[in-house]
Amino acid sequence: MLYLIRAADALQPLFMTTAFALGAVLGSFANVCVARWPVGQSIVKPGSRCPKCMHPLAWYDNIPIVGWVFLRGKCRYCSTSIHWQYPLVELLTALLFLLVYWKFGFTIASPVYMMLAFALVVCTFQDFADWTIPDEITYPGIPAGLAVAVAGMFLGEASGLRVLNPIDAGAGILLGGAIPFVIDRVTVVLLKKPGMGFGDVKLLAMIGGFVGWQGVLGTFFLACLLGSFIGVGVIAYFRFKGPSEKPEAAAGEKKEAASDDEIELEGHYLPFGPYLALAGFLFVLYGPELVQLYVDFVTLDSGSGTLYSI
Ligand SMILES: [Zn+2]
Repeated sequence: MLYLIRAADALQPLFMTTAFALGAVLGSFANVCVARWPVGQSIVKPGSRCPKCMHPLAWYDNIPIVGWVFLRGKCRYCSTSIHWQYPLVELLTALLFLLVYWKFGFTIASPVYMMLAFALVVCTFQDFADWTIPDEITYPGIPAGLAVAVAGMFLGEASGLRVLNPIDAGAGILLGGAIPFVIDRVTVVLLKKPGMGFGDVKLLAMIGGFVGWQGVLGTFFLACLLGSFIGVGVIAYFRFKGPSEKPEAAAGEKKEAASDDEIELEGHYLPFGPYLALAGFLFVLYGPELVQLYVDFVTLDSGSGTLYSI
């Protein structure tokens, strides 16, 4: 037994390298999804090519992170700059996969939450670039969360999964959809202001399937907290810089996400999807710890008051 544990320890660097490499490859795929889904292109064919000169990329130029570094951020054929967002997304996804493996180790939870991390990366960067959240991710993602909870019910605690009960996951999906939907309706109908958008409804519903109903409350609370800290800085930056241009998608390809209330928002719209995605990921990783932190904070505040009595 001891030998087995030692052998597993010795293989740890190999597993971690594999998690990182897998993340980099899926990060590269995330770039393809973000670039092609909003304009209705296939993510399978044609293969990777320069968006400017359309020259197909050689396999060695297409290696995640490394390819960009070797090309010094320029296309080999036409020297057009390749945006730093490409290697950034690859590196970020690789680090997220490593983090998931670090936290969940050799359990079924590792591949499950790696795929969730990939889904959240795509949602985040498509929301940044196109102000939409891809249905291609959320529609299969919602039932996937439920399916994982069913698996969790059979596999139990040893699976490492956060939700071990499909009812909890189902409630998470409903509550996750309900919170942004109600906020959206209240702001649009009652306050006559641009609401949250339907992409966020589907995104938080998907996250809800993976974190359960209590996790959804925690995720939403954390997203608002992150949003108010980061958002203030971003608003200040854009006020200073002036309104940005909204990337135009090909005419007729746009789906329901480009509703009237989003178009009014030119230059003022702050996507909330990235905060939901970040908060959801943090909650998958550190949900119990975050809840404990919050409970400690609240009880400290309303406690005996010795902190303030001096
Ligand atoms: Zn080129």
